[in-house]
Amino acid sequence: MSHVEENCIFCKIIRGEIPSAKVFENEHVLAFLDISQVTKGHTLVIPKLHKKDLFELTPEVASNLFEVVPKIANAIKEEYNPVGLNLLNNNGEKAGQSVFHFHMHLIPRYGQGDGFG
Ligand code: 5GP
Ligand code: ZN
Repeated sequence: MSHVEENCIFCKIIRGEIPSAKVFENEHVLAFLDISQVTKGHTLVIPKLHKKDLFELTPEVASNLFEVVPKIANAIKEEYNPVGLNLLNNNGEKAGQSVFHFHMHLIPRYGQGDGFG
């Protein structure tokens, strides 16, 4: 099934079965704090439809998702006042993907010694 995956951690977060610290939500997209923050404010942005990775995204899902990324990035900027921000996405185990529901990492940066990179 492409819309809902019973055992997917992120689908469980979307369904409210696992709690999350929400950063943004609309009809198509959810953004929430990563449980293991590489820097303060590390946020994940996911489509509400279960898509495994970049290769499975339709143009419509990709468009709905990316449309709100600047808004989320600006909300993070206001809240945490970083000096920069990395937008990252891993596809496939060998590329570092550990949750197989497409997600983008928004990682606020605070300069030298912020613990990332
Ligand atoms: P990946 O390695 O697949 O690019 O990133 C998966 C991310 O999901 C990791 O940074 C990990 O900390 C995060 N993560 C895994 N399980 C949970 C969870 O239950 N809740 C939240 N908020 N983040 C999670
Ligand atoms: Zn899922």
